[in-house]
Amino acid sequence: MLNITFFKLGPVVTNSYLLSDSETGEAVIIDPAWSGEFLADEIEQRGLRLKQVWVTHAHFDHMGGAAAILRQLKPAPKMALHPNDLDLWRTRGSASLFGLHVEPAPDPDVSLEHGQMLSLGRHTFEVRHVPGHTAGHVMFYCASEKAAFVGDVLFAGSIGRTDLPGGDYATLMTSLRSQVLTLPNDTQIYSGHGDVTTIGEELDSNPFLT
Ligand SMILES: [Zn+2]
Ligand SMILES: [Zn+2]
Repeated sequence: MLNITFFKLGPVVTNSYLLSDSETGEAVIIDPAWSGEFLADEIEQRGLRLKQVWVTHAHFDHMGGAAAILRQLKPAPKMALHPNDLDLWRTRGSASLFGLHVEPAPDPDVSLEHGQMLSLGRHTFEVRHVPGHTAGHVMFYCASEKAAFVGDVLFAGSIGRTDLPGGDYATLMTSLRSQVLTLPNDTQIYSGHGDVTTIGEELDSNPFLT
């Protein structure tokens, strides 16, 4: 069984998702948003083995906890990011633009690409490149669980901002129309901020999609 837990962390209240497979005890974090020591403690207290950390995009509020997780957990998990967000990762997600300090983390080990399949226990996740909020933004889609982890591309009632470096509105809308809104209506959407929603609900009521 796939367990999905989330924590709301950091200065802009970002969702950090902890996924674990009850059969193998393996776990993945999607977006080590902030408070890396806290996340590492949660993994240890639950007796899980953190295999990988999957980063939707390299804004500071989605990777601020990465360095502490790598430092605290033994063996350290692999860190996975799309290469188009590597420059952003190296500037720690533009944290200094917002007057925030983020501890530097080594370059990610795993270079994500569109169409790549990732696994957690028997569960498979498809990587989809969905640029527009940042150039290297990806989402993780698990068809068998009807679940998509979409970072800052789509929110309950809103869409990602495109005014930060690497953002582009037309590109975001293309990503949404080709990669996100084409998912089945009952797909659960786990966003980078706010509440869980579904594709059907957003198609019905999201004012940015009409
Ligand atoms: Zn963002
Ligand atoms: Zn965010």
